[in-house]
Amino acid sequence: MKISLLIPFFNEEAQIPITLKTLKPILENTGMDYELVLVDDGSADKTWEVIRKSSEADKHIIGLHFSRNFGKEAAICAGLDRVSGDAVILMDGDLQHPPEHIPEMIALWQQGYDIVEGVKLTRGKESLASRLNAQVFYGLFRVFSGYDLRNASDFKLLDSKVVAHWRSLSEHDTFFRGLSAWLGFRRATFSFEVAARQTGGSKWSIYRLAKLSLNAITGFSAMPLQFVTFLGLLLLGGSIILAIQTLINWFSGHAAGGFTTVILLQLLIGGSIMLSLGLIGIYLARIFTEVKGRPRYIISDQAGYHETPTQED
Ligand code: UDP
Ligand code: MG
Repeated sequence: MKISLLIPFFNEEAQIPITLKTLKPILENTGMDYELVLVDDGSADKTWEVIRKSSEADKHIIGLHFSRNFGKEAAICAGLDRVSGDAVILMDGDLQHPPEHIPEMIALWQQGYDIVEGVKLTRGKESLASRLNAQVFYGLFRVFSGYDLRNASDFKLLDSKVVAHWRSLSEHDTFFRGLSAWLGFRRATFSFEVAARQTGGSKWSIYRLAKLSLNAITGFSAMPLQFVTFLGLLLLGGSIILAIQTLINWFSGHAAGGFTTVILLQLLIGGSIMLSLGLIGIYLARIFTEVKGRPRYIISDQAGYHETPTQED
């Protein structure tokens, strides 16, 4: 039995040695064969140097280096395309996902669960803006997709057969947390307390979080598009009533003034049309990205592999 550990890193040169040192004894203690797949998501610091050197020193370590920053989701995709273990554990590189839970995850997997998911007891320390984003996002996601991902995390173990199915998903913009719920299979959860970061700060800007949220919602639900239809129906209903009133006024000879009504209607209808076009535009943009079919990531360098590099998408 072999366990793969998949960890994405973005500008974490100071953190990697600490993470590796913490993981090593835990993995050795499982008594299983293991590999560490470390993905450098196009870092600007010495992250790749550090990964390359560690893979030279330790044959368990495989490194993948992106040609630029493609984002954590892409790093997860790259890792899942390459792992060779009977199960893969995905965790953050900053030890905010406490590795002490690894034996517990493996035990649950050995009991026959195909996906073992970490559930956050508390959300740890984070900015007000990112907390707010999470609140709004998970609420909307639940309404639109039907999946309740509050307190869900990317700290997960997947059996190799789940990974095989994951690889068959062809969408360009993935949302790991949502897609792993969509995949189904026998699932178990365990709770963990989000640890504090030891070095550096969060690598997610509010803009990126908002982008991920939008991707996740539009990737899982076409309901916002139905909202356009709903809005249209509402306006149509309103306009019938107003039309009747206007005609009555006209026939009874009081059809005067009306400036305020006209302006308000203009604003309302103009706003609704813009909003609807925007919503359609978001989906159109998604279709555009999917149709282009560009690879999700580009690996410019790898370490710890002994065969010739293969390009995957
Ligand atoms: N990460 C990444 N690419 C990015 C941003 C982050 O691979 O573009 C990695 C990062 O190095 C870390 C993990 O994803 O290992 C989680 O990131 P972070 O700790 O910044 O997120 P947070 O804990 O704030 O959710
Ligand atoms: Mg973190």
